[in-house]
Amino acid sequence: MSHGPAQDKPQVIYLDNNATTRVAPEVLEEMLPFLSDYYGNPSSMHSFGGKVGGKINQARERVAAALSCDPREIVFTSCGTESDNTALHSAVSARPDKRHIVTTRVEHPAVLNYVKLLEQQGYSVTWLPVDKHGRLDLEHVREAIRADTAVVSVMWANNESGTIFPVREIGAMCREKGVPFHTDAVQAVGKIPVNLKELPCDYLALSGHKIHAPKGIGALYVRKGMLFKPFMIGGHQERGRRGGTENAASIIGLGKAMELAAAGIQDENTRVKALRDRLEKGLIGVIPEALINGDPVNRLPNTLSIAFKYIEGEAMLLLLDQFGICASSGSACTSGSLEPSHVLRAMGVPFTYAHGSLRFSLSRYTTEAEIDTVVRELPKIVARLRAMSPFSADSETEGQHKAVAACAVERSTE
Ligand SMILES: *Cc1c(COP(=O)(O)O)cnc(C)c1O
Repeated sequence: MSHGPAQDKPQVIYLDNNATTRVAPEVLEEMLPFLSDYYGNPSSMHSFGGKVGGKINQARERVAAALSCDPREIVFTSCGTESDNTALHSAVSARPDKRHIVTTRVEHPAVLNYVKLLEQQGYSVTWLPVDKHGRLDLEHVREAIRADTAVVSVMWANNESGTIFPVREIGAMCREKGVPFHTDAVQAVGKIPVNLKELPCDYLALSGHKIHAPKGIGALYVRKGMLFKPFMIGGHQERGRRGGTENAASIIGLGKAMELAAAGIQDENTRVKALRDRLEKGLIGVIPEALINGDPVNRLPNTLSIAFKYIEGEAMLLLLDQFGICASSGSACTSGSLEPSHVLRAMGVPFTYAHGSLRFSLSRYTTEAEIDTVVRELPKIVARLRAMSPFSADSETEGQHKAVAACAVERSTE
């Protein structure tokens, strides 16, 4: 078998945890019996199935405990995307006479594209702007909420910039005006404390694979009393809120992962944050013409988005890959497009920087030695690429013209 001795395992420095995370060994261990011996259907009358049902209940209790809510307020879904879609679907279906939605320009596609679909269907949408640090202006939010607003949807923390939004204040505004509030908390859970007793929100989405559970499992919190409209129509599972036989092993894994996430908040905000800061200082202090994308203060403790003038993020990723270093670039697609991501564009990151953006996202498994490898190698990579950059200072104008032309072509084929 290929997954045998340690030397056969991929040797990577994995700094792409906002994209996905490794499954925690504790999570896997808890899941395994439900992928082998305990395969009963949780809805069956026999005790063999009941054993699985019992573990699903325990998982629901664990998720609820980690969020400080009632287990009955948790619906298991297939992913963060389904949770976001379901929340928006529920909110707009509950108030069909309300035809206005408030959201931001920097949402994850799970919200962004669902709201775009609603916009095509005739909803009017207020797309809230962000400043250069990716921050929202609370006054803009207040002004945007109207009598016919069906839902306000604002992510808790941005996956690219790491900027944290003032969801408590936004939730309070919504409550005051009687408008449902949804937050995409996929990047917040496990990184900053989430307490639903103190957060006035009505729907909250989370995803397993961003917190060391497997891919393909998510959860949606629906505050008691909020109208719910199933997205997946079928059996009576999830108390009629989501048809389909439960993804038992993954639900059980998510329960464990949520327990670990809650217990790890302290480590995340001390040790992991210190490693992120070490990375940041090691790069910003050494590489000229580099800047940080994101709020310098209110930022996820594990995230560093950093932009280097005149070079391509993709080229840096390829060279980092030779050292087994995994990170992300700030581009929207991997097809060689020159279009920076919608988040960096919304932040107004200067053109010559936006293409040279890299995102490093750390986890509880990140070590100091790994960070030091990046701090040692990246300055050399940047220097090497700049030496051969078509965007070098002399040919800046020409390079920009070429890139603008490429973007225009790209847009016309969207
Ligand atoms: C990853 C992510 C999602 C989508 O979660 P999936 O489980 O991959 O569908 C939604 N929102 C944010 C902020 C994310 O980072």
